[in-house]
Amino acid sequence: MFCYHCQEAKKNLVCDKTGICGKKENVSSLQDMLMYSLKGLAFYCSQTDEFALVSEKTNQFMAKALFAMVTNVNFTPAEFVALIDEAVRRRNFIRQQFLSTYQQKNGVQFKGPIPEQAEWQYDEVSEQSFTDTGATVGVEKDSETLDKDVHALQECLLYAVKGLGSLAVHNLQIGIEDIAQYSFMHQALSFTLSKNNTQEDVLAMLIRCGELGLAAMEQLEKANSKKFGHPEPTKVYLDSWDKPGILISGHDLQDLEDLLEQTAGSGVDIYTHGEAISAHAYPAMKKYFNLVANYGGAWQGQKTEFPKFNGPILVTTNSIQQPKKTYQDRLFSTGMVSWPDVPHIEDRKPGHRKDFSRIIELAKQSEAPTPLTEGRSSTGYGTKALSAFTDKVAAAIKNNKIKRIIVIAGTDGRHKERRYYTELAEALPENTLVITTGDTKYRFFQHDFGTIDDIPRFLDAGQSNDFSVIINFLQQLQKILGLDKLNALPVSFNIAWYEQKTILMMLALLALDFKNIRIGPTLPPFFTPNILQMLSDKYALKGIDTVENDVESLMAGN
Ligand code: SF4
Repeated sequence: MFCYHCQEAKKNLVCDKTGICGKKENVSSLQDMLMYSLKGLAFYCSQTDEFALVSEKTNQFMAKALFAMVTNVNFTPAEFVALIDEAVRRRNFIRQQFLSTYQQKNGVQFKGPIPEQAEWQYDEVSEQSFTDTGATVGVEKDSETLDKDVHALQECLLYAVKGLGSLAVHNLQIGIEDIAQYSFMHQALSFTLSKNNTQEDVLAMLIRCGELGLAAMEQLEKANSKKFGHPEPTKVYLDSWDKPGILISGHDLQDLEDLLEQTAGSGVDIYTHGEAISAHAYPAMKKYFNLVANYGGAWQGQKTEFPKFNGPILVTTNSIQQPKKTYQDRLFSTGMVSWPDVPHIEDRKPGHRKDFSRIIELAKQSEAPTPLTEGRSSTGYGTKALSAFTDKVAAAIKNNKIKRIIVIAGTDGRHKERRYYTELAEALPENTLVITTGDTKYRFFQHDFGTIDDIPRFLDAGQSNDFSVIINFLQQLQKILGLDKLNALPVSFNIAWYEQKTILMMLALLALDFKNIRIGPTLPPFFTPNILQMLSDKYALKGIDTVENDVESLMAGN
């Protein structure tokens, strides 16, 4: 086992026996086997653009398979066995079509070179055989034949493409598809098969991935706003009520709406967990009186928070951990999320809502949640809500009442060092705005930040997927202030990275040529010292320091 694709890699180096996330060695090998197989599929998909041979289903399959490998999404060996099998079958089908179409068009056979990933065949579909082969084709194998720095950047590209796959699936759930994203997934995976890529080649692909990731976030944000209404500044209750409830975690707003529709008037309350807190701000959700509160905090608190909830828990898009006995009989997954033996709610049939009746029946027999948190916290500063502040913020910047905008975005995690984000947010001077997306905000979301000229100093734009909202807001500010470039704004980014979608945030900022981005609480383990030096030289990208030093440095624009 060799996995270092998230912030919690053991000792910030690599998980080599079992994952800190709970990923077992066999699942790690199966994921390596899946990536190997997807590269083979991508090889033909990327060759066939001019022949238009890639089907809609193959594009969607690629995105779903990539999403399944994002940290904390899917831990079930049988699911990976099925995905590997499907990848090979789809590859064989498109390979045959490609080879015959190529010959017809060119009058000669395709000579290649054809990489082994595009040729391998299995003898049998079995967990054991895929696991055994997977153990020989992982990260370490590529590192034997590639320059170390190129390999590091290519791994970063593969992880970012997993993040892009997850965004494409989120978009698909709400009826949006973008062929440019699918094409890039094929191109990027196929690109990593070459042994001749230079650092510059890979960096160009990474920048393109950042651009597409940002575009995918923007599409999702627009589609969600169109369907569920523009998020409105909202105070979310954090306490618990006296009826039984269902706790929903993850990002999928359609799942939440389906659940609310099926529980309205049933006597079952709905609570959000983790990044789902942002759902309270959407007008379409507000009309359901049984969407009562947010329960608990960020994803990593589930092992202590879920036992106290007492009712069923539905995990929609990611962040599942090994369930404890105290709640495993109340835990359900849906979408790409899966844990062995945790019941899975099937996808909705076309024109129908997802069927949550099983969960609702269980909720009716459950106790009300044990009180855990209390008070209120604000969210809902989406595109429209932030737009309403643009003129005021621009004026406050001009007259020096706002000296700096600090963006603290990203995903929370278990590292003790993450208390840095609480201390940093609370130590920032009163002439700063703090804008957030993702669940790192739980580290300081109940702090009283006050206001500057009626502008709340703490503005939560929503889920990590809503990162594009912040960029959009900054672009409006740039226009009003008449600045020639976005990075001339008094804004600093502090990205709390955890998994592959946060890598996309970082790449999006590099694509926009932002400098002085901080990545914490630790730097990605897959970057070599040379790559970190290159990113430092080119973008002044850096890790976090002490809170005191960082406040001083941030306020100086560094
Ligand atoms: S996803 Fe993260 S925690 Fe899990 S095995 Fe990989 S590096 Fe370790």
